[in-house]
Amino acid sequence: MSDVHQRTSAQISRRNLLQLFALMGISACTRESTATHPLAAGTSTTATPQSDDTTTNSTDSKGTSADVLVIGAGMAGLAAARDLQKAGKKVIVLEGRQRIGGRIWTTQVGGLTIDFGASWIHGVTGNPLTDLAKQAGAATIAVDYKNMARFAPDGTELTDAQDDAIEALWQGFEAWRQARVEAGGLDPSLRALVDKYASTKGLSGIDKGWLDYMVAAEVEHEYAQDAAQLSAQHYGDTGEFPGGDVIFAQGYGQLVDLVAKDLDIRLGTVVSHIDTAGQGAQVTDSNGQVWKAPQVIVTLPLGVLQANQVQFQPALPQDVQTAIGHLGMGVLDKFFLSWQGVANLPAWPKAHILGRVTQPAQDPWVEWLNTHELLQVPALLGFTAGAPALPLESQPDAQVQEQAYKAAKSFFDGDLPKPSAFGRTAWGQDPFARGSYSSVRPGGSRADCDTLAKPLSSRLFLAGEHTHGEHQGTVHGALLSGQRAAAQVLGAG
Ligand SMILES: Cc1cc2nc3c(=O)[nH]c(=O)nc-3n(C[C@H](O)[C@H](O)[C@H](O)COP(=O)(O)OP(=O)(O)OC[C@H]3O[C@@H](n4cnc5c(N)ncnc54)[C@H](O)[C@@H]3O)c2cc1C
Repeated sequence: MSDVHQRTSAQISRRNLLQLFALMGISACTRESTATHPLAAGTSTTATPQSDDTTTNSTDSKGTSADVLVIGAGMAGLAAARDLQKAGKKVIVLEGRQRIGGRIWTTQVGGLTIDFGASWIHGVTGNPLTDLAKQAGAATIAVDYKNMARFAPDGTELTDAQDDAIEALWQGFEAWRQARVEAGGLDPSLRALVDKYASTKGLSGIDKGWLDYMVAAEVEHEYAQDAAQLSAQHYGDTGEFPGGDVIFAQGYGQLVDLVAKDLDIRLGTVVSHIDTAGQGAQVTDSNGQVWKAPQVIVTLPLGVLQANQVQFQPALPQDVQTAIGHLGMGVLDKFFLSWQGVANLPAWPKAHILGRVTQPAQDPWVEWLNTHELLQVPALLGFTAGAPALPLESQPDAQVQEQAYKAAKSFFDGDLPKPSAFGRTAWGQDPFARGSYSSVRPGGSRADCDTLAKPLSSRLFLAGEHTHGEHQGTVHGALLSGQRAAAQVLGAG
């Protein structure tokens, strides 16, 4: 392939590239507790997020009463339970899946360990996940994500001049949007603002196409949400930790296992009712089992709350319901293609990040992680996000694999054989997530996350990434929200 175009940090959104590196460390090793996985080399299948992948905690019955019940064994619930248990509370964590970790999901495809949920620590300095990684002895890999090459769908690599023109177009829009953000006033969707910009500037043809590509690559993949569902004003105003960003050589699951150690977690317990109308909290699961405690922390994902899958008694307060409606739950899916063991592979492209400059509505295969360059594994990880991601979730594996394979061929000069293994996610269809992570819809703001962060009573507390305005949509946001809820419980006596 031709030379890699080096992008400057000002030319690319940091967090977007983190999402692009959402593949976890890849190795031939499996996690200690990994059960036999249905995927093997030569297979092609959907690796659904609710699959039984790891079972690290006892499901033995140890009673159904506790000081505190925690709903959900993702990072928020586990962090809350850990702090409460350390403070001497008897805690039971109720988890619907047959595994812990929630939207952190380290799994295997074709014998390779990957993360199909979160993969990055966003900013290592001052980030509580950095300490956890050290405690877990988890090796991390810093990635230089300025290293990117963009291609036309026909496989022609963009020239530096074309690359610069795309970047300049995007920066022009961003400056225009920023001026409107600072002026305040209307908060349309990002899509509406982009279209307004295009008509104001008379953009059409290739310029409008490039702008739409950048909206997908820079924003929709970063926020896991369609531009039509993002607040033009608030979509990007989350906080960041400094210090660079890392992935894990052996998966994010190492941190999950550490936080979950010695907790009483009841897997396969699908909560259907949460009743705090009486003296304490009474939680009913789908088998009719009743769980009791004076207090309950609920870490159900925003998508699950929006779908009203769990009934609250009394109903959630009106301001909480309004806040839930102001936030959005979008989709970022991952597609892993491995050529491990395949002979006669063509020369691999040299960039860390591979971009396909397409019209995402027609061709969603916009952003890829080049694991060959980073981890010396002959594999690629593709991403789809927002509205174009949704139809793919319903298509058969073979059909999706073929599309992903055809798109991947754009990056190779020679003939690319068929991959030996394929795996993909469908987070939007996952009943225990109903999307990938939350974001701010038009008309909403970070204040809506803050509304969800307040104790709903002395018995009922919410946590989860969607309840942390500063670090919404991240693992560290989930962790911090769980710690906050634990402190609230302890403060409430
Ligand atoms: C594809 C993808 C890539 C991502 N990339 C990154 C990244 O690189 N870096 C980053 O910081 N963040 C990333 N994120 C976001 C991050 O994974 C989440 O913000 C975080 O893991 C959420 O943790 P949580 O505890 O709030 O929710 P969850 O992890 O979803 O935990 C909630 C738990 O509740 C359980 N549950 C749901 N319904 C019920 C029920 N009825 N009864 C009992 N249990 C129930 C769920 O099974 C789940 O285990 C990514 C997410 C996805 C999906």
